[in-house]
Amino acid sequence: MVSLPEPGAFIELDEPALRHRVPVYRSGSGPAPRILVTAGLHGGETTGQYAAFRLIESLAADPEVAGEVVVLPRCNPSAFRRMERTSPFDELDMNRIFPGDAEGTPTQVLASRVWDLAREADYIVDLHCAGPYATPYTLAQYSEYENCRELASLLDIPVVVQSGGSEGQLFVEAGRRGIPAVIIELPGGGPDGIIDLAAGEGTLGALRRLLTLLEVLPGEASAPSPAFCDQLVRVTAPADGLYLPRVAPGNGLGEDGIVGLLEAESVVTEGRGYCIKNRPPGYVFRGDALAAVAPAAPGEASG
Ligand SMILES: [Zn+2]
Repeated sequence: MVSLPEPGAFIELDEPALRHRVPVYRSGSGPAPRILVTAGLHGGETTGQYAAFRLIESLAADPEVAGEVVVLPRCNPSAFRRMERTSPFDELDMNRIFPGDAEGTPTQVLASRVWDLAREADYIVDLHCAGPYATPYTLAQYSEYENCRELASLLDIPVVVQSGGSEGQLFVEAGRRGIPAVIIELPGGGPDGIIDLAAGEGTLGALRRLLTLLEVLPGEASAPSPAFCDQLVRVTAPADGLYLPRVAPGNGLGEDGIVGLLEAESVVTEGRGYCIKNRPPGYVFRGDALAAVAPAAPGEASG
């Protein structure tokens, strides 16, 4: 087991009564390329935070890091403390308020301090969780920004999903300003802060491979070939009843588009694609979330 180094610095707010200490880890002989890895913008999304801490440990044990890797493993400590998406101090969603406000509420101030680091980055990877029933995927505005597509194509995560992009998201605001930025969504999180260890280790591997391809880490790596998909299609329960999933997250749907059975009737989604989420067997009510599917993008070779 490698031990974690001391953080080089902290982002801290002025009010000493509020615990808003965000550790900032830097490694590398600098200056370029500069890679920013963020996690925990949403406090309960713990697999992303775990992967970020694993990256910090791994880089600390690596004597040959070129460029600069800045890792913020837990950007929203008060939201983390209650394992929720938002901070109890202002209930703001940190990933909807970038570039933040240096004079604002605690979450707005922290966002502005994270943004100060994001503006200086050449690449940004933001780690999140999509709940316990998801499979890892990259979320990117790859249709809009060629440099975001290139970054996504260097990550060994099997599927890249086109993002609709919401105002104030870190990767959206960075992409808009010409900085290649993506999210990796991972299984885990939720009110119990579940960490999916295998997905965390897989993400560590994907990040190290990215750093090798960017020549930040020494050695050779072949480029991965993720499948580029359209925006997620969410499948909800059409009625009340017993739901039995028929495809596991991480697998392709059959030609019939069946995601599961509800009271023995097929629940079908349009077209073919890749199953991103599918809930376990259970009694569901009309409108409940069942599954999410990433349709194969027309003209995109699947890898
Ligand atoms: Zn999130």
